[in-house]
Amino acid sequence: MSNEREHPSRPVDTPTPRDLSPDPSPPESRASPSFSFHEERRLLKSDEYWLSTRLVGGRPSSVSTSPQAGKDALANFHHSLELDQAIEEAYTDVLQARGAGFVEPSTMESPSGPEGGDLDPLLASVHRQEGDRDERLSLAEEKRERQISNMNDIVHPMAALRADEKKEEGKTQTVDTVRAFAESGIGSELEALYDNFSKCLALRDKYMMLSNQRLGDNPRDYDGTFQGFAQEGAGDVGGLKPSASVHQCEAAADGQPWKMNPPPPPPHWKWSHAQGKPVDPMASEGQNGGEDVEALEFVFDPKDVPGPEPEGKRRSFGFNDEGVYQVFDANDVAKDGENAKPIWAAPRLKEYYSDLDYLLGVCSDGPAKSFAFRRLKYLASKWTLYTLLNEYQELADMKAVPHRDFYNVRKVDTHIHHSASMNQKHLLRFIKSKLRKAPDEIVIHRDGKDLTLKEVFESLNLTAYDLSIDTLDMHAHQEFHRFDRFNNRYNPTGSSRLREIFLKTDNLLKGKYLAELTKELISDLEQSKYQNSEWRLSIYGRNVNEWDKLAKWVVNNKLVSHNVRWLIQIPRLYDVYKGSGLVNNFEDIVRNVFQPLFEVTADPSSHPELHVFLQRVVGFDSVDDESKPERRLYRKFPTAKMWDTNQSPPYSYWIYYMYANLTSLNSWRKERGFNTLVLRPHCGEAGDPDHLSSAFLTAHSISHGILLRKVPALQYLFYLKQIGLAMSPLSNNALFLTYERNPFKDFFKVGMNVSLSTDDPLQFHFTAQHLLEEYSCAAQIYKLTPADMCELARNSVVQSGWEMQVKKHWIGNKWYLPGSAGNDIHKTNVPNIRMAYRHATLLEELTLIQHGTHTPSATPMPMKSAGVSPSDVAAAAMSQTKRYNQPTLVGGASVLETRRRKSISNLQRSPALSKSTSMAFTEEEEAGANGAAA
Ligand SMILES: [Zn+2]
Repeated sequence: MSNEREHPSRPVDTPTPRDLSPDPSPPESRASPSFSFHEERRLLKSDEYWLSTRLVGGRPSSVSTSPQAGKDALANFHHSLELDQAIEEAYTDVLQARGAGFVEPSTMESPSGPEGGDLDPLLASVHRQEGDRDERLSLAEEKRERQISNMNDIVHPMAALRADEKKEEGKTQTVDTVRAFAESGIGSELEALYDNFSKCLALRDKYMMLSNQRLGDNPRDYDGTFQGFAQEGAGDVGGLKPSASVHQCEAAADGQPWKMNPPPPPPHWKWSHAQGKPVDPMASEGQNGGEDVEALEFVFDPKDVPGPEPEGKRRSFGFNDEGVYQVFDANDVAKDGENAKPIWAAPRLKEYYSDLDYLLGVCSDGPAKSFAFRRLKYLASKWTLYTLLNEYQELADMKAVPHRDFYNVRKVDTHIHHSASMNQKHLLRFIKSKLRKAPDEIVIHRDGKDLTLKEVFESLNLTAYDLSIDTLDMHAHQEFHRFDRFNNRYNPTGSSRLREIFLKTDNLLKGKYLAELTKELISDLEQSKYQNSEWRLSIYGRNVNEWDKLAKWVVNNKLVSHNVRWLIQIPRLYDVYKGSGLVNNFEDIVRNVFQPLFEVTADPSSHPELHVFLQRVVGFDSVDDESKPERRLYRKFPTAKMWDTNQSPPYSYWIYYMYANLTSLNSWRKERGFNTLVLRPHCGEAGDPDHLSSAFLTAHSISHGILLRKVPALQYLFYLKQIGLAMSPLSNNALFLTYERNPFKDFFKVGMNVSLSTDDPLQFHFTAQHLLEEYSCAAQIYKLTPADMCELARNSVVQSGWEMQVKKHWIGNKWYLPGSAGNDIHKTNVPNIRMAYRHATLLEELTLIQHGTHTPSATPMPMKSAGVSPSDVAAAAMSQTKRYNQPTLVGGASVLETRRRKSISNLQRSPALSKSTSMAFTEEEEAGANGAAA
């Protein structure tokens, strides 16, 4: 990045030369939490130097250099404003004199600091500018706030005025005023702020509960010993909530354990190169070669597929007026017809948008932004302190674990698209071998005739010998900010014919080639044993038969592996289908995507392959270019049927329809004992940061999320809820954000639930071990320690959708418990001390938000590992956090006690919250209060 590009994008008033400013504002306060302190320091220094050498005389003549700081606070206040202005003018002049790609000063004040390589301001669409203005406004507010708080160090402005007027009243009165102000002003402001954050957390809880996305809601989570949590509301998507008690938290298991077909391999299986499949070395003692693990074979038997519900317990389903499927008791429908009440209700469109509005309001509120920003900074600094204190202890702990290291901990590629899951060399080899072995196979139907593979290549003027990675030309390293062109990279040699022949599941060959390729990929994964993939397959919503075709492709080709689970990605391409007349309105897409799923839930034997395929599907993804400008919804909420314009609905609208239909579907599937599905959309990769708000409410976890760095309040909420982020810095590097500016490391330091994933190895990676390549790059650029990498690997398993039985085997029997209680270092290789630190830190933040008490948790210190069990470490951390009854740092002490009760009653009053959520919340609060009193 050139120096010229760095300059315009930096806030003009930040790089204040040392000798000009009586009180330079702290550099990090303006930047996003993603922006590394050191880099900012460096820029600041270079600017200081630059300015001091270029500014004539070092300072503008109009500026006085002897501010009487400390003597007269108010005068100082105005004075510093003048100073800022003068410096701004001087700086602007100088920059304009340089004439280097200079943009308006007003666009510079991006909250995320220098944006040189990030977003071309010219490409930013109109609606972004709107958001920018908001951000600028709140930044101005922030600035004012900071100036006031700077003066508070001396004396409050009001108090200062008064002191000037009535000096005879003496010092006592001044102090009283300050205290009164603190209690009435700052205290109540913080109180409201905590309230707002708590409500946002409760809102997400409501959405997760309704849609059955929490751990334990899914029948696939039952393994015979685990069946969800005893207390309603104690569980979250990734396990037990951090504030819940770990003792007797599990519900009694009385349901059927989930049956895996085929059953999981024995614990110690090895890959046999001689036989080309996994074998069980334990069973092979005394024999040579080992015994086949016969049970690993997948067998599809339509007779095993269950039929419809028994007579009398039948359900039926249909659209409501908004285009959301609902499930009814068939008897009710027979009796009441149209007026039958649905058994499970999903939030209505209007409710969703008002919740979303509330969340957006909280996140764009100036004080909330600065509060969250400070907390995130604090968390990152605390992490630095932790690593300084414990790095050697962590290493020692890891060395003490036999056998386990980074290479043999389980890793899941949490975000990878199936049609781009091989590397280019692999695809090239495959194409060449097909061209050599089956040149006369008819592969495609074009322009009224059938073409063989040989003819296709002749039409492209290519021979097998010509083919190389360069002619294939699928790497996307030149597509920065060109998602439109990126999609064309899916075409080998730029030809859509080859893409259709080799990379589609639904073509003339019925996806035969892609299936063969997939088998090779599966075999690679199984040989690596510790790497697993969650592949995305597409359902477009163009017609209702897509599901059956896809399911038949998977099941008939036996594309089943213990190292693979599937997600279904739904491209947001309404405008394309509408343009070509495939659909009339948005409701058609909803029908095409969801109707087969409701049918197969009602009667699995009606779509036997789909039923079997769905057992291996984890959830839904939503994909497309997020940076496309989108139409905004304001006050009117058109239903799916009414949406018949040519424009695609906005992101939030797509997400609503996926979420709401999933809610009904999951409730029904859970009742029938079929596995439920979760929502894990692509989100926050580019475009409007508002997308992340929709995902905060509705999504189990998301892919990307790099834009969270621009919305500190939302980032803080994502942290508090430990929402999984499957990040792909290499993919971002090619498309939207250069590697060194990726917020991945900052998110990790803060303690967000991040994992590393590859996105599209075909376009971005060079080796066959894409996931390791991704880890390797991150480790080298971000200087990750072995413990960091193992923690990331563990996160990836927690975020993934594998069965409880498998996850227990991979990361420990109690992995769903928070902190070190849930860690098994012999499996994860993550030091317990680190898990305890993460847990204690998260608890500290949650206590602050929910009870208004700030009790800095002790940073775990190195301790003798002998005789200390993981749960002891967690207990120590917990007791540290709970011991303090008195609020220590924030607000007026008197208001905080009442605040807690008020927030509970507010919650109960809030119409947006369903009764059960607020009840659960109250119980939790009370449990917390009891704990604190004890
Ligand atoms: Zn992706």
